[in-house]
Formats: sequence, structure tokens, C-alpha cells
Amino acid sequence: MPPKQRKIAIMGFRSVGKSSLTIQFVEGQFVDSYDPTVENTFLKDIKIKNQVYSLKLVDTAGQDEYSVFPQVYAMDIHGYCFVYSINNPKSFEVIRIIYEKLTDVIGNVITPIILVGNKKDLSRERAVSFEQGKELADLMRAKFVEVSAKDNASVNDLFTSLIMSIERKNQGDLSTDSTASSKDKSSCSLS
Ligand code: GDP
Ligand code: MG
Repeated sequence: MPPKQRKIAIMGFRSVGKSSLTIQFVEGQFVDSYDPTVENTFLKDIKIKNQVYSLKLVDTAGQDEYSVFPQVYAMDIHGYCFVYSINNPKSFEVIRIIYEKLTDVIGNVITPIILVGNKKDLSRERAVSFEQGKELADLMRAKFVEVSAKDNASVNDLFTSLIMSIERKNQGDLSTDSTASSKDKSSCSLS
């Protein structure tokens, strides 16, 4: 089977660890100081269940409550990785705002999303509970995971989980299409 191209946007407030997560996943290392203002695209191939996925990971420069949702992140994206940091309530609040803006731009959001609570290693500074994270994820019909880019905890899982969600959505689309066409046929025979 040829590789499937998947483009994923990594979004969230500044300093939550978007670049650290991306670099940990792509290069297998934790980079402590990374220019927070740059946007970068990383490429990685990953094999899941005998299928190779060629990933394009857009590590965005970050958003805040005032950011306009960038049009480039609304089109041509297969999945979103929304990152907050478990020790920063503001970064959690910003996710809700980003999601609302995404909804304003693309309407009903059916693009798969994974909500990521990063910096799980900083448990003593925790300010957002696991339950709060789960609740917000449910509201966005998103997957939810807590990870640590620093300890490389669940970082691979998060990307695998998002790719599988995209896969399921695509298969769902196909089955919806076939239902739609069979409905069409039945309405034809009625008229
Ligand atoms: P970005 O602005 O969202 O891309 O955030 P960065 O990846 O640049 O990370 C911001 C700061 O948080 C850096 O100092 C990172 O070293 C630190 N950081 C990122 N991930 C983790 C993590 O999982 N645990 C801890 N303790 N620090 C992290
Ligand atoms: Mg960054």
C-alpha cells in the first residue's frame, strides 16, 4: 500500500510544549530551548498496522485568546493536536477559545482532534485536573491524553491515536457515502 499523506496542526498557547512534543516525536530528544516564535514543519514516516503514514506536522508559533484563527490551519488539515500545559490554567482556557474560533471558521468540526495535557511530569504544579481535561475533550468530541515531552511519556501514543482517529473518520466517510447513495436509490424508486 502506498503511504498515506497526513497533515497535522499542533496548536495551543505559547510555552505549552508544542515544539518539544513535535521534536520529541520526530527526533526522539527533548530540546530545552527552542525559539518560541517560529513556525516549523516537520516530516516523519510512521508505520501503523502495516500502513505507512507520511506525516507533515505543522508546529505553529502559538495562539492566544486574541488570535484570529489562521485560515491556513482551517484547510487541508487532517487532524488537530490541541496542546495545553497541566500547570497553566490560562493555556487550558485558550484551547476552548481556539476551538470556538475553529468552529466559527469551518462550521461543524468533524476534523479529528486530540486534546493534549502536556508537562505531566510537573505534577506538583498541576492546576488543571485530568477530569477537567476529559470534560473539555468530550465537549469537542476529541480524544484526550496527558503526556510529558520531557519524559517522553505517551508522546508516540498521542500521534498514533490521532492518526487512528483520522483513519476511522475516513472510513466513516466512506460508509456514510454508501448510505447516502442507497437512500438516493430508495427515494428514486418511491417517486
Ligand atoms: P511551545 O511554545 O508551545 O512550542 O513550547 P516549547 O516546546 O518551546 O516549550 C516551552 C518550555 O516548556 C521549554 O522551556 C520546554 O523545555 C518546556 N517543556 C516542554 N515540554 C515540557 C514537559 O513535558 N515537561 C517540562 N517540565 N517542561 C516542558
Ligand atoms: Mg514552539
